[in-house]
Amino acid sequence: MELRLYDTLSREKRTFVPLDANNVRMYVCGPTVYDFAHIGNARPVIVFDVLFRLLRHLYGEAHVKYVRNITDVDDKINDRAARDFPGLPLNEAIRKVTEQTGKQFHADVDALGALRPSVEPRATEHIGEMREIIERLVAGGFAYVAEDHVLFSPQAMNAANSTLPRYGALSKRSLDEMIAGARVDVAPYKRDATDFVLWKPSKPGEPSWPSPAGIAAPGRPGWHVECSAMAWKHLGEYFDIHGGGIDLVFPHHENEVAQTCCAFHQERMANYWMHNGFLQVEGEKMSKSLGNFVTIHELLADWPGEVLRLNMLKTHYHSPIDWTMKSLEESARTLDDWYRAAADVEPGKPAASVLEPLLDDLNTPLAIAALHGLRGSDVNGLAASLRLLGFLSESAAQWEGRKQQASGVDAKDVERLISERTAARARKDFKESDRIRDELAAMGVTIKDSKDGTTWEIAR
Ligand SMILES: [Zn+2]
Repeated sequence: MELRLYDTLSREKRTFVPLDANNVRMYVCGPTVYDFAHIGNARPVIVFDVLFRLLRHLYGEAHVKYVRNITDVDDKINDRAARDFPGLPLNEAIRKVTEQTGKQFHADVDALGALRPSVEPRATEHIGEMREIIERLVAGGFAYVAEDHVLFSPQAMNAANSTLPRYGALSKRSLDEMIAGARVDVAPYKRDATDFVLWKPSKPGEPSWPSPAGIAAPGRPGWHVECSAMAWKHLGEYFDIHGGGIDLVFPHHENEVAQTCCAFHQERMANYWMHNGFLQVEGEKMSKSLGNFVTIHELLADWPGEVLRLNMLKTHYHSPIDWTMKSLEESARTLDDWYRAAADVEPGKPAASVLEPLLDDLNTPLAIAALHGLRGSDVNGLAASLRLLGFLSESAAQWEGRKQQASGVDAKDVERLISERTAARARKDFKESDRIRDELAAMGVTIKDSKDGTTWEIAR
């Protein structure tokens, strides 16, 4: 069985052939740590976690390296720090913001059942690599210094007579059209409207580092060069898979390709570019002004992380997803059923009917449909397949107990009512037994009678 992945650059599904099967390398753009992550941020985390797990299954756990960065130098972080900790020196306030937000992000994604990446580099720990890339770009004639900024010139890249990729190839945009459509009020230090910042001077009090390219004033990196530097440091000049949300294709990924390929004279930065689609909430674009901005943290207060995970994977990663309450409720019921069927079962091998769609460009909706099919035929295969997808992290009892806790129902009260009902039935007092059943239903408890006695669960 071979893995096929859709590549944004070539616009086709291609058989995945690793550059080195002993060291399969994947980079995914991580969060900028200044606030709670919203549910849209959870999508690449979950999608690429499934790919990480699948690659580990195919090539062995020790042979897959997954890098997801943390952006801890950014204007948004500075603004948040100044607002939340006005009494502190800015650098100290920034550290507080990035530490708190980083911790919160980890707690959120752990709850979603996402494995930690092999490396989680922080931008502030890779300033040296950023400076080196910038020096190389200036020396190669792809970047220039102006008013203490260093700017990358896409036109210089496309004018180079070499095997470099064309600027705009990833996002399928023409540089000429970008130039023609550029805004008139371009920063005065830019030679061309399409030039982008590699390095800029820091304002007083902001984090700053010694500048590259002979600039005397201290400064800080632009966002795009951060990822080129961290990917280079941990995965090399050219690696297998680069992933992220579809909104990052332009300009962020286009600029990463430009920086890395021009600095290291590569034809490609990554062999496969993978992008997950947008997320909407109840049919609308999520935005703070619409009031439908949902954080992972808020959702985790109401739902187990695995419910959010399943809800995300019911849609193919490439398609837009509509995040609805109705769908969450369905996902919760599905997981209840899977936990009852498979959580305490010895896992066998992941079923071929689940693996095949996963190998076909991570077709998780088809894989989930196949899981339903295993329910009656191969529970050991169901257990193994669910674990491969990052589910069943708890026992059936833990899962049920958590539901009881969330519902506020005390198991002792339920057991007492059930034994009273059993007694009523034994003396043929059906009026009383019906009354108790209704009382339990009002508590959100459904009961099931069988020859072995009465079992119960919290209805969702
Ligand atoms: Zn990035």
